[in-house]
Amino acid sequence: NDALERGIVVLGAGPAGAIVALGLRRLGHDVTVLGVPRVFDAIEGVSERVVAGLQGAGIEAALTAIASPSPRRATWAGVSSALNTERLMDRAAFDRLLWQELQDHGVECLAARVLRWQPGAGGQGHVLQIQRAEDKQPQSLRAQFVVEARGRLAPHPPQGVTRGPETVTLLWRGQGAPGGQACSAVESLPEGWAWMAHLPGGACCLQLTVDPSAIKLPPRAQLGAFIRERLATVASALPFLAVPAAEVHALARTSAAVLSPEVGGGTWLRVGDAAMAADPLSGNGIFQSLSSALQAPIVIHTLLNHPTEAPHAQRFHRERVHGLFQRFARIGRDFYAQELRWADQAFWAARRAWPDALPAHAPAGSAAPRVEARPVVDHDRIRLAEVVVTAEQPLGVWHVDGQPVAPLWRAARAAPGREVDAMAQVPGCAPERALAMWHWMRGQGWV
Ligand code: FAD
Repeated sequence: NDALERGIVVLGAGPAGAIVALGLRRLGHDVTVLGVPRVFDAIEGVSERVVAGLQGAGIEAALTAIASPSPRRATWAGVSSALNTERLMDRAAFDRLLWQELQDHGVECLAARVLRWQPGAGGQGHVLQIQRAEDKQPQSLRAQFVVEARGRLAPHPPQGVTRGPETVTLLWRGQGAPGGQACSAVESLPEGWAWMAHLPGGACCLQLTVDPSAIKLPPRAQLGAFIRERLATVASALPFLAVPAAEVHALARTSAAVLSPEVGGGTWLRVGDAAMAADPLSGNGIFQSLSSALQAPIVIHTLLNHPTEAPHAQRFHRERVHGLFQRFARIGRDFYAQELRWADQAFWAARRAWPDALPAHAPAGSAAPRVEARPVVDHDRIRLAEVVVTAEQPLGVWHVDGQPVAPLWRAARAAPGREVDAMAQVPGCAPERALAMWHWMRGQGWV
């Protein structure tokens, strides 16, 4: 009877949960985030694209935990390069700042562990069991809408989960004296691959990603020594081992690619790693979390405020999450396939064959354009609209520079040889616009 009552509740305050909460605030919703800090601390690397995405989502203070671009040495398939940079972050510091920033934006943040989530049936609302640090007993919380953003710790239904080859990352985190430049390195090894990073504050991270069925893992107490010993013969790891640093922790994290069988319903949505988690090789985990989280506020807003569009909103989210998962799985496969020296080793053989043999990017022109009704974002809601679907744009193109393209493409196709004139007859398309759009469509190979 003394259950807390809330409207929208977000479970987990990693990047995905935080972005959804901020987006919902911007759309005028009251939001409560339930979170506990991550159980492990790591250095992670992100691209400029991620930093821009975080900025675009309204995150500012937490960006100070992200270092300036630093060199990334890659030794893969026997070839070394130092062309790339990445931006390293201390994830614990980033998450702490994010938690504070949410509150600064008016999001209610409860430091509480979610013990159980019982989805509501028949409009009853969801019931959550939560444990706050200051309480002796767990407490009930009723919510109208739940956003599942507990990352890889989010429970999945017993059946229907899509999983990539079993993967474990052994992680050694150390702390040395401040000094030196931020830098990172990746190298492929017979039994997997290693990633090392160092921050100017003295934090150091060594990671070894392996197939647990192909390697005998030591007991936890010996994990740190095992990782350091294994990396002692890896050329690009040597500079990271040379810096004296005391072990903060060593642990093993499961890091296989995972796609949840269902990513949303009428009153709930999964985002970030809770919806789909990528193989860490992509170095794109946070990018993918952002990709599913940035669109989620509009999806939720549609579910709550425009219920007749609910099926389209759910389809929009599902198709984007599935599309991202498949695309990154295939990009990862192609990257693993470059390593031919150990192609018959269990680790490499499994990864060069998963998820399938389809190309990561459909070749341009491999399927003729067609018009389909698909969900699109229209101002504050998702609705169905006619879009042009192609091999490269399987989700369809709705607008170009504010101009709906399906009616133009249809008009052009119906009038071979006088496409521009036909396009200029489409309501709302002036002749000079028709010409510009014709050039654009020609560039795409549509006409
Ligand atoms: P998370 O960041 O996992 O956030 C989930 C939050 O929910 C956490 O704060 C957690 O404490 C909280 N939570 C969990 N359970 C509960 C509960 N019961 N109650 C309350 N709160 C809870 N990505 C990169 O971009 N670059 C990298 O270099 C990189 N390296 C990686 C290395 C490894 C080994 C692995 C496994 C992943 C790596 N990733 C990397 C991926 C990245 O960590 C994730 O993709 C990203 O953090 C996902 O964000 P999220 O918000 O979905 O989940």
